[in-house]
Amino acid sequence: MAATLPATAACAEVGGQMLALVAELFPICRSITGDGLRQTLRRIGREIPLEIHEVPSGTRAFDWTVPKEWNIRDAYVRNARGERVIDFQASNLHVLNYSVPVRRRMTLAELRPHLYTVPEQPDWVPYRTSYYEERWGFCLAHRDLVALPAGEYDVCIDATLADGHLSYGECYLPGERRDEVLISCHCCHPSLANDNLSGIAVATELARRLADAPLRHSYRFLFIPGTIGSLVWLATHEAGASRIRHGLVLSCLGDGGAFTYKQSRRGDAPIDRAAAHVLGHAGAAARIVQFSPYGYDERQYCSPGFDLPVGRLTRTPNGEYPEYHTSADDLGLVQPASLAESLAACLEIVEILEQDRRYVSLNPKGEPQLGRRGLYGSVGGRVAPKETEAALLWVLSLSDGRHGLLDIAERAALPFAVVQQAAEALHTHGLLRPESKGEG
Ligand code: ZN
Repeated sequence: MAATLPATAACAEVGGQMLALVAELFPICRSITGDGLRQTLRRIGREIPLEIHEVPSGTRAFDWTVPKEWNIRDAYVRNARGERVIDFQASNLHVLNYSVPVRRRMTLAELRPHLYTVPEQPDWVPYRTSYYEERWGFCLAHRDLVALPAGEYDVCIDATLADGHLSYGECYLPGERRDEVLISCHCCHPSLANDNLSGIAVATELARRLADAPLRHSYRFLFIPGTIGSLVWLATHEAGASRIRHGLVLSCLGDGGAFTYKQSRRGDAPIDRAAAHVLGHAGAAARIVQFSPYGYDERQYCSPGFDLPVGRLTRTPNGEYPEYHTSADDLGLVQPASLAESLAACLEIVEILEQDRRYVSLNPKGEPQLGRRGLYGSVGGRVAPKETEAALLWVLSLSDGRHGLLDIAERAALPFAVVQQAAEALHTHGLLRPESKGEG
């Protein structure tokens, strides 16, 4: 395939389109189950071919169980004058996500243990959940909490927690081979823009583009509720999981921070090398960090019983930006240029996974005369002539059937695309043949 990177103008446009999807999904009250999650999946399904699966409550997934389905219609705390002092209609973050229903009149002192704030950020509403313990609560700005007068309040959470289903979305794009690339993102957070919606928007656009491209690998995109969604998928696809050759968890891709790639548990998988290569040539302050058993669904994919080669691409990672899991992770934090750059990085990584292969030089004794064959001018117009020449010589030197194009790009410190174009030109001129056992 030729997933050529969008030019700058197209970049701004696609960034705007992804931000529009983020903005459209932002108001929906999502959780790890329920209609908000379904509504989100149906919206994604208008962009890409998405199969929506429904897994019944009570289904076992290794050490876990699919919880009851949660749905919420309204929630508030009302003062004696009937005014809503905390209002779910103003922001769905005001409710402790997965709260059990409650309808009661109580004093502030009785209500106080159910109220959550971030005192260090007194204007922000925190995002809190209680999936596996039946509780109820409200989240609010600390400034609003301290302003609440003593007295009686009417408390209402109009929600249901009942047997139902966990929903997740799956988009499978078959390629030449059954070997798979897994792209996974969580879609269980309510109104948070960078954490969950940016990953959803980039994954959706990536799937939309790959759906139109000839692919060597098959691609599987999962849009799942965090933790329980990946556990359920793994538990129901144990055999299929062994076909995953490369994988990426996508999240937090819309803020202005530099990229952070978190390695797979293996640390040296081809996806780890491909991501490091792309970020290394993206300049700036990109970081590579080692695997750790906390974070997003990479925890499950990389658990020792699976040990899948799945890394994680973010910009500023979860927990490392002050707005994380608060109402300040809003549409203002997500920039179209950041989304576009994140998509471009994903496309470049995919390009390496698709194009990496081994060649054998058909002229291994001494260097072939490249000038005579017009090869120096034959490689991509935008590439500096010195880079072209270096790439041609490196490809010829290392194409002994043992080194792939990514090996060569790493060793030559050249962008993969330049090395790949050089190999293509050499192949066209009859100086290379693909190694039949070449594996990428
Ligand atoms: Zn989160």
